Amino acid sequence: MGSVAQSPQLSPVERADVVVVGAGPGGAAAAANLADRGHDVVLIEKDRFPRDKVCGDGLTPRVVKELLDLGLTDEAHGRVDGWATQKGLRIHGGPTVMELPWPQLDDWPGWGATATRKVFDETIARHAAARGARLVEGVSVTGPLWRDGSESRVSGVSWRDGDGNEGRVLAPVVVAADGAGGPLAKHLGSARRPNRPMAVAARTYYRSPRANDDWISSFLDLTDGQGELLSGYGWVFPLDDGTINVGLGLLSTSREFGKVSYKKLLESWADGIADDFATTEANRTERIRSGPIPMGFNRTPLHQRGVLLVGDSGGMVNPFNGEGISYAMEAAALAADVIDGAMTTRRTSDLDRYDQLLRQRWGGYYTLGKVFSELVGNPTVMHICTQYGMPYRPLMHLVFKLMAHLTDRDPSDAKDVMINTLQRLAPAA
Ligand SMILES: Cc1cc2nc3c(=O)[nH]c(=O)nc-3n(C[C@H](O)[C@H](O)[C@H](O)COP(=O)(O)OP(=O)(O)OC[C@H]3O[C@@H](n4cnc5c(N)ncnc54)[C@H](O)[C@@H]3O)c2cc1C
Repeated sequence: MGSVAQSPQLSPVERADVVVVGAGPGGAAAAANLADRGHDVVLIEKDRFPRDKVCGDGLTPRVVKELLDLGLTDEAHGRVDGWATQKGLRIHGGPTVMELPWPQLDDWPGWGATATRKVFDETIARHAAARGARLVEGVSVTGPLWRDGSESRVSGVSWRDGDGNEGRVLAPVVVAADGAGGPLAKHLGSARRPNRPMAVAARTYYRSPRANDDWISSFLDLTDGQGELLSGYGWVFPLDDGTINVGLGLLSTSREFGKVSYKKLLESWADGIADDFATTEANRTERIRSGPIPMGFNRTPLHQRGVLLVGDSGGMVNPFNGEGISYAMEAAALAADVIDGAMTTRRTSDLDRYDQLLRQRWGGYYTLGKVFSELVGNPTVMHICTQYGMPYRPLMHLVFKLMAHLTDRDPSDAKDVMINTLQRLAPAA
């Protein structure tokens, strides 16, 4: 470590019960939940809010539930500037366009929302601070600290700020919520699992009269320059500020993965839907940016040596639809529960329950998602699905519930029973 001077926000040596690295939705939700339970939490974010994050800005009912659980009721209902709510998904595939309302269930809210990540992430981070977490912005965590030479237990993290100040936060538990790059997980030697799906997606924004749409839209018939169907999907998500978020993603199982220019693909696809959505170059308000989407627990173990991976750092995105915000926030709530329990029993081995419980909760579903991503990686399967499966409304309802991971735990609906049974039978990832 070089110079050890005080950062405006942190002393050179700071102590806490838990240090959370990264104030995206996963880290901020973990910090809020831990602070609610009375723990002293330092939440460290390398950027300063409001900050952007490449995303579709789509918040499914699973996210809305997390917002309601955190007490962010007005935001979840879209009653605050910057937030909008929608009824469901309008899906476009082959010749078919179908509106599928979000399912009305006992366990999940019946609506979804959108908010730019500038608005969304700052809201959750400020909420965590209001609950008592010590939010520190503009400070990068540089690595884990160890209690002993054998590196068997973490004792905190080291940090550096933009002015070159350096220091340490000492804590017996670290939550790594530092995103898809997973810098902390890499320090721990956790590698990506090559047999887990990945996606890369790109997005931009346009001013559009369709910004007041009650539906989010997805498009299953993405094609390359030669008219070949691609394994992925495009989206148009309406926002509260008169713009729409427009993007597309491709799965790692597809032939074209890593070979296409996302910028060109998005430009030409947006041009193709311009009559309906006004996605012309003149209306574009941002540059096109892309990012990785790590899916289906593609980095494990989820706990080791006192460090718990939350959200993208553990590759927790849903392989069926590319949704990652809710999984980061749900994992954060579970991490807070497990940490709280381990602090009560004073048995650090209790932290292993985090890995076990998460795999029990989503492992079977992610295995199904892995099979799905392998199937739709084949353009022929994709073609059959969009041409012949799409027109059947009851089938699409079932597929929608499966892909959005929205069923009741104790279901009365036969579709939910079927999906829950499949998840239970699939071996946990
Ligand atoms: C193009 C695209 C579209 C997407 N669309 C959607 C969508 O519509 N809906 C959806 O649910 N999901 C979507 N996702 C996935 C979603 O963005 C992620 O799953 C989600 O952001 C994960 O949250 P997180 O808290 O784990 O990580 P992040 O949101 O990535 O947050 C990580 C935080 O850690 C900080 N950080 C990193 N390193 C350090 C460090 N060393 N020290 C301190 N701080 C650090 C970062 O600055 C960041 O703030 C999309 C992803 C992409 C790429």
